[in-house]
Amino acid sequence: MPSGRVHNLINIGAYSVISAGALIASRQQLVTITPAQALAFTLAFAVGTFLLSPDLDLAEGRVDSKRHWGLLGVLWVPYGLLFSHRGLSHSWVLGPLTRLAYVALMVALVVGLLRYVAPGVPLPEVPQPISVKVALPLVAGYYASQWLHLIADGVRPDHGMKRGVRKVRRR
Ligand SMILES: [Zn+2]
Repeated sequence: MPSGRVHNLINIGAYSVISAGALIASRQQLVTITPAQALAFTLAFAVGTFLLSPDLDLAEGRVDSKRHWGLLGVLWVPYGLLFSHRGLSHSWVLGPLTRLAYVALMVALVVGLLRYVAPGVPLPEVPQPISVKVALPLVAGYYASQWLHLIADGVRPDHGMKRGVRKVRRR
């Protein structure tokens, strides 16, 4: 299985190919991509690659994706303990959602704690619902970063959906 650095390089390489393809396609007027959409895709792809890698399921140890969080990396230790390496965390559909849900939980805990400890502190407002036109590239960028990781790991899309565990182990 590739190391964190190799995963990052694969994702950066794939991003260059995707963005070159998107640029050519929009020059040829095959698709229309607004700067906001390109930015949304890029941000989500970068967050998925560097901050929300599937290998956070190893966060109880030393792992590249945890290091990118700096001091906050400690927050991922429970996630690493909760999810076995290359288990649900490495499934194609639910895996990426487990990390988003985990982040949401952490944010909710911090906000809850702040409200309790310092009720007067103004909190950033919840952003208005974003349009589908921006949400779609966000989802695409995040999932693309995750799927590239899984492909590099040799994880198949039906991972975790059927009992293929024994077959894999026997190899
Ligand atoms: Zn992995």
